[in-house]
Amino acid sequence: MLLDIKNLHVNINDKEILKGLDLQINPGEVHAIMGTNGAGKSTLVKTLSAHYDCVVTEGSITYKNKDLLEMDVAQRANEGIFMSFQNPVEVPGVNNSYFLRTALNEKNEYNGLEQIDTMEFLKHIKEETGKFNIDRKLLQRDLNDGFSGGEKKRNELIQLLLLQPDLIMLDEIDSGLDVDAIKTVANVINAMLDGKKSIIMITHYDRLLELVKPDFVHIINNGKIEKTGDYTLALELDEKGFEGIGIKDENK
Ligand code: ADP
Ligand code: MG
Repeated sequence: MLLDIKNLHVNINDKEILKGLDLQINPGEVHAIMGTNGAGKSTLVKTLSAHYDCVVTEGSITYKNKDLLEMDVAQRANEGIFMSFQNPVEVPGVNNSYFLRTALNEKNEYNGLEQIDTMEFLKHIKEETGKFNIDRKLLQRDLNDGFSGGEKKRNELIQLLLLQPDLIMLDEIDSGLDVDAIKTVANVINAMLDGKKSIIMITHYDRLLELVKPDFVHIINNGKIEKTGDYTLALELDEKGFEGIGIKDENK
């Protein structure tokens, strides 16, 4: 098993958001997470990536047979955890290409691999982005600085292709994207699926789920995973809505 979450309780600002959530993920699996606004979807993936907002008060998270809660942000990234944020942060003054190469070299160092120099890096990134027709102009700019919503998401894809993480968490990567951009996202995700990498994908939209078929669909409600099904659960949800499939938010 890649990830084993047991009885996870998480507070944000002293308010309990996750209330005993369980989730198991095996290598190679794609898990879609759905739920009403404010259900705690982002809280789950933010907790997994060690976001400072999220305070774990109870429960355990085991990743690659290690205690994930003992690892800091950098260690989690080096161990192959990747998170694409709903709103990627802008970092003026930090060149994007430099940032990406540094991230890759840190991971390489941690894993006992050789450092990659600028020339090699550019060649590598040209090959990877070329496969998916991703514009490379973004590399010369500062990290996410002034990027449009779509450009930020595209930049997340470049990071994915470069870092080849083992656990990929995508928080509404499809939101605000046009049809062609969603196809590019799906092409990249599908190309990453080599039977070993696992994906947690938060989405409201059927289109992405049509293009990247999840093995499991989970619905978070009242701080737990309340319902799990296969792809057809997403279809049913689309047709009937949350209430229609028996999901009732106790806070509303
Ligand atoms: P989702 O991604 O499912 O829409 P979130 O996980 O972002 O929901 O949020 C879950 C709950 O936590 C919401 O009620 C939200 O208002 C609250 N929350 C999230 N971040 C913060 C924060 N920084 N401060 C206070 N409350 C927060
Ligand atoms: Mg969210």
